[in-house]
Amino acid sequence: MKALVKYAKGEGNIEIRNVSIPIIPQDDWVLIKVHAAGVCGTDLHIWHDQFPYWPPVIMGHEFSGEIIEVGSKVIDYRPGDRVVAEPHAMACGSCELCRQGKIQICAEKRSPGWGIDGAFTEYLVMPAVLLHRIPEGLPDDLAALAEPMAITVHQVSERIRINCQDFVVVTGAGPIGILAAFVAKSMGASKVAITGMNACEQVRFAVARELGADYIINVEKENPLDRILELTRGRGADVVIETSGAGPAIAQAIQMVKKCGQISAIGIGPRDTVSIPWNMAIYKVLDIAFNMSSSYTSWDRALSLMANTPKTLSALITHRAALDDWELVFQDLTEEKGIKALFFPEG
Ligand SMILES: [Zn+2]
Ligand SMILES: [Zn+2]
Repeated sequence: MKALVKYAKGEGNIEIRNVSIPIIPQDDWVLIKVHAAGVCGTDLHIWHDQFPYWPPVIMGHEFSGEIIEVGSKVIDYRPGDRVVAEPHAMACGSCELCRQGKIQICAEKRSPGWGIDGAFTEYLVMPAVLLHRIPEGLPDDLAALAEPMAITVHQVSERIRINCQDFVVVTGAGPIGILAAFVAKSMGASKVAITGMNACEQVRFAVARELGADYIINVEKENPLDRILELTRGRGADVVIETSGAGPAIAQAIQMVKKCGQISAIGIGPRDTVSIPWNMAIYKVLDIAFNMSSSYTSWDRALSLMANTPKTLSALITHRAALDDWELVFQDLTEEKGIKALFFPEG
């Protein structure tokens, strides 16, 4: 079968290779035929050697598929079942975090796409314990968005609380930012404002509006803090969801949120250190939640939300491609000419 492989450490080092169909490695794993696989920012980072990975490895961790074969100890699933999978493979199961159910941040975790072979190919194997059924009415292409949606649901609805009537600001209009606007609106936010830069004018702002953003703020054209204070009559936003990872946006999140407001920190920045108005955060009595990855509960919530709103979400898919076109797709996403790209490994 054809697979997109990161074959060695370093910049680039990706190619299409012919590999054999994997064999179920343990009795509690399943073999899945990939229907659609989404490209994530992580894949672009692996391309440029900016994220840990164990080469040679088949890339891709976001996918939907159908079970072809189950191991002898799998009882909940059978061939033909349509599934998606949490990417938290190889979590140890015995460390303090795993015992608390937080397998997504276990130090032993090796996800498909960088730690074990992933989904940019025709078949992959996964532990059955990580599977979730695709609800009826949710098509395969949209189901491939389950992972970024689960991340967003975890970070927007589980780690913080959005109430009806809340004014929510999302800083950053990448895939997670746009999904965050969508989830915030689905949870009853009265108004959602989203910020971005000039590059977002190409596609991202228009899709953000389609998915529920009420106000679009291009930070290269206007001051986002002034605009939010004007829109909230000086009070500030109830919630800020920071997805950009950009230093100025992180500092401004603290300035634009109201007293006793909440910040959900999602975006990973280019630098480890960011300067923020620390005292202001204390005087304002803010709740700031830092985030990483998705939880077990967020997956079924995400799938339920997606099954209720399939039409709206299809606007997120800007590229539908064959594996052979990977370089064009990666380039377009780097230049922010797209939001979500899906590969259809069968062609
Ligand atoms: Zn992802
Ligand atoms: Zn563990």
